[in-house]
Amino acid sequence: MHNEKNLTRRNFVGAALVGGMGVAATSFLAGCSSAPAASDTQGANQEAWDEETDVIVVGSGGAGLAAAVEAAGAGVGVIVLEKTNIIGGDSTLCDGILGGWGTKLAKAQGIDVSADDVYNWFMGHPEWYGPKDPEVARLLADKSGETIDWLQEIGVPFVEEVAPRFGYTELPVIHQVDGKGAEMIRILKENAEGAGAIIETETAATKLIANDEGRVIGVAASSKKGDKRIKANKGVVMATGSYAGSPSMLAQLNAESAHLLPGSNPGATGDGLAMAMVIGAYTARAAELPLMSSLAGVESGSIVNWNYYERLHGLWLDANGERFFNEETNYENPTGHRAIVRKQNEQGKQVVAFIGTTPELEAVLAMRPIEWATGETVEEVAEMVGLDGAQVKATVDRFNSLCETGQADDFGRPAEFMIPLTGPFYAAPISVSTSVTMGGFRTNTDAQALKLMAPTKEGSLTAPIAGLYAAGVVCEWNCAAGATVLCAVTLGRIAGQNAAKEEPAA
Ligand SMILES: Cc1cc2nc3c(=O)[nH]c(=O)nc-3n(C[C@H](O)[C@H](O)[C@H](O)COP(=O)(O)OP(=O)(O)OC[C@H]3O[C@@H](n4cnc5c(N)ncnc54)[C@H](O)[C@@H]3O)c2cc1C
Repeated sequence: MHNEKNLTRRNFVGAALVGGMGVAATSFLAGCSSAPAASDTQGANQEAWDEETDVIVVGSGGAGLAAAVEAAGAGVGVIVLEKTNIIGGDSTLCDGILGGWGTKLAKAQGIDVSADDVYNWFMGHPEWYGPKDPEVARLLADKSGETIDWLQEIGVPFVEEVAPRFGYTELPVIHQVDGKGAEMIRILKENAEGAGAIIETETAATKLIANDEGRVIGVAASSKKGDKRIKANKGVVMATGSYAGSPSMLAQLNAESAHLLPGSNPGATGDGLAMAMVIGAYTARAAELPLMSSLAGVESGSIVNWNYYERLHGLWLDANGERFFNEETNYENPTGHRAIVRKQNEQGKQVVAFIGTTPELEAVLAMRPIEWATGETVEEVAEMVGLDGAQVKATVDRFNSLCETGQADDFGRPAEFMIPLTGPFYAAPISVSTSVTMGGFRTNTDAQALKLMAPTKEGSLTAPIAGLYAAGVVCEWNCAAGATVLCAVTLGRIAGQNAAKEEPAA
C-alpha cells in the first residue's frame, strides 16, 4: 500500500516502460542520472527523472512531517527527504512547549483565552522576535489551539496542565508534550508512514528544479548512493529548518553572528534558504541576528542559562570589569543577548557573568555544583577570570551602594532586582548560542512560497511560485517564544494539504 503511491527509481522505470512514459524511461535507460545542469530551469524537462512522486517534502522536522501526514493522508504519493540519519531535526531536540488557545485541554481547565489574545501577544512585542507579517501571524494565532488538538488526536501525549510559563508567555496557553519533541516526532513519523509517506534518510535535496514556466517540478538530491533527480507531480514542500547548525552560514549572513555557538542539529545548515535564493524566492530577514540564549560556564561544563529559569541576579562585566547593560532583561527580549554579542565582538573577548550568593544561587547549589571560578573576595574571583581585581571591586561596590541607597540603576535595572552582591562570589565567561534563525522564505497564508514582482496598478507586489511551499523555520520566522515548533506544524499541515490538491504540471 505504502509504495503504490510513490514510484521509486526501480518501479518508476518499470511503470514508464509499461505505461509508455517515454521521456523519463528513455533518458533513464540512456544513463542520465547524474547531477542536474547548473541552471534550474533550463532543460528541466529534457533530463531523466530517477524517481517520481506527487509531493516531495524536504526535511523531516515538525513542519515536514506534518506536511507529509496531511499530503499522504489526502491519498497522494509523498517522499520525505532527510539529509541526516536522524528523523526530526530540531523538532526532535525541542522541549515540546507549545502555546495555543481554546484546546480541549484548556477547556477542561476552564481557561478562557481567545485567538485575539494570542494574536495580540504575537504582535505586542515588535522589538522582540515578534511576527512581521500580520496575515501569517493571524493565521498562526487562529490555528494555534487547533494544531495542538490535532497533535493530540493523532496520538501525541500532553501533560494535562495548561499554564503560563516563565520565559515564554504570561498567557495561560502553554501545553507541554509528554516526552517533549522526541515523542511528538515519533508520533508524527508513525502517522506519516502509516498514511503512505516514504522517508529517505541521508538524502539531501541540493536544488529545486523548475520547468520553463517557472513551476517547481522536482528536486535534485544527493546521497551516499549518488545523485538523483526526483519528480514531484504536484509540488515540493521546503521544511529544512534553520541555519543555526552552521557557524559559517551564520557568519556569512550576519557578521555579528560570527562567534555564536551553533545550538541546532548539524543538519540545520541553511540549505533551504540557499535553494530559495537560487530559485528567486522572496526571502526576508536573513541578515538579522537570530534568537539567542546566553550561557555562562560553557567552558567548565557547568552551564547556567542566563536570564532563563535560573535567575541569579548577577552582573555582566566587560573586559574592563565594568557593567554595560541591564542584566535582568527578560529571556525572550533579544536586547540583552544582543548587547552581550556586540560587547564580545567589540572587545574580542567574552563578557563575564559575576554573581554573589543569594537564596536563588543557594537553591541551585542544593541541586548541583556550579563549577565556576569562586572565592570569598571580589578581587580574587575577578583575577581568576582574567579581570582587574581592583576595577571589578569598584564596579561591585558602586552597584551595592546603588542597591542600598535605592538610587536609580545606571542601566535601568528594576528596583526589585537591585540585590547587593555578597560572597562567596562566582564568575564565568558567557557564550551566546542560537537555535532559531530569522531569515527565510516569505509565504502567504496558503504556505505558498512567494516571489517578489514589479508593482502593478493593482498594487500586488508578490505572487506564489507555482509548485513550491514552505513551512517552519526555513520561513521568515513569524512567531514569539513558545510557538516556534507549533507554528512549524501549523504551516506544515497547510502546505501538505494544499500541495496535495495541486493539479499535476503539464
Ligand atoms: C534544544 C532546543 C529546544 C527547543 N525547544 C522548543 C520548544 O520547547 N518550543 C518551541 O516552540 N520551539 C523550541 N525550539 C525551536 C524549535 O524546536 C525549532 O525551531 C523547530 O522545531 C523547527 O522545526 P522545523 O520543522 O522548521 O525544522 P527542523 O525540526 O529543524 O527540521 C528540519 C529538518 O530538515 C533537514 N534538512 C536540512 N537541510 C536538508 C536538505 N538539504 N535535504 C533534506 N533535509 C534537510 C534537517 O536535517 C532537519 O532534520 C527548540 C530548539 C532547540 C534546539
